[in-house]
Amino acid sequence: MKLLVTGGAGYVGSHTVNALLTQGHEVVVLDNLSTGHKWALQDCELIDIDLRDEANLTKSLQGRGFEGVLHFAAKSLVGESKNHPAMYYQNNVGGTTNLVRAMQSAGIPRLVFSSTAAIFGNPVSDFIDEEHPKAPINVYGQTKLVVEHMLKAVCESSAFIATCLRYFNAAGANNEANLGEWHEPETHLIPNALRAAAGTGNPLTLFGDDYPTSDGTCVRDYIHVDDLASAHVAAIEQMDSSSGFNSFNLGNGNGYSVKEVIAACEKAVGADIPYTIGPRRDGDPATLVASSAKARNDLGWTPKHDSIDEIAQSAWNWECYRRDQLA
Ligand code: UDP
Repeated sequence: MKLLVTGGAGYVGSHTVNALLTQGHEVVVLDNLSTGHKWALQDCELIDIDLRDEANLTKSLQGRGFEGVLHFAAKSLVGESKNHPAMYYQNNVGGTTNLVRAMQSAGIPRLVFSSTAAIFGNPVSDFIDEEHPKAPINVYGQTKLVVEHMLKAVCESSAFIATCLRYFNAAGANNEANLGEWHEPETHLIPNALRAAAGTGNPLTLFGDDYPTSDGTCVRDYIHVDDLASAHVAAIEQMDSSSGFNSFNLGNGNGYSVKEVIAACEKAVGADIPYTIGPRRDGDPATLVASSAKARNDLGWTPKHDSIDEIAQSAWNWECYRRDQLA
């Protein structure tokens, strides 16, 4: 298929571009490189446009023969979203609205949308399936949920097909393709822990140890970024056998506490990782673990890298590679 990938120079986007190219799809990346990286771009055309620029966006999609869009470009930090809510709504909701309108104008019917476990808020069950109540407790999650509502309405009023993929905690790296996570500033647990170990980042602070979990630290479902990428490939390839609006939760179904993740990072690095306990971070639910039964059944998707040790090791290999590149 000829596919447009917005945010294809970002973390999950670049791994998905790699997976799509491996499957023989033709890919064009749309990215304004505001948080994406030139080095993450692979052998495909780049359209350097901001999704907020509706006129240029509409023009750039016309007559290109795109059969579908995978939409990653977004602001995605919980803490930042609290401090800059209008910017989050403008980028995530406004940007996606512009994209859908441009797709309609160019006659592109298929969209795979990067959604998030943050749309659910505090869980009311041990495993979060697609029907779980949606009550986001942070602005980032709100913006993604508003987009899901918008896409559902668009699908109900036209022949548009949209699939929302709700990621739990994306982690790990593709060491063969030399791709991995690189945010500035970095806020995520695994790279922060690895950098603290290597002495290349800030000392690690653990955000709260008084949660109602086994060791008092937050529990998350860490999913390897290449497993997220393969779910995107399955979703776009299977769209014609479904119709309208669809959604899938993507995780391994295993919860790890922050302390358990730090232990996995210590194993990968081969050294202790010192940390201090700080206050809770606003907008963090105690536990988020996916039920991905629907994705496994309907997309035929199976995560291949579901061990937290393998995830941490691939992230550490990536950190070492990236540091060598920058040296
Ligand atoms: N976390 C932490 N210290 C850090 C970064 C994250 O204790 O420097 C915790 C955070 O509070 C959450 C978990 O690690 O409970 C995962 O956070 P991350 O930012 O990696 O992903 P998110 O859950 O926000 O998508």
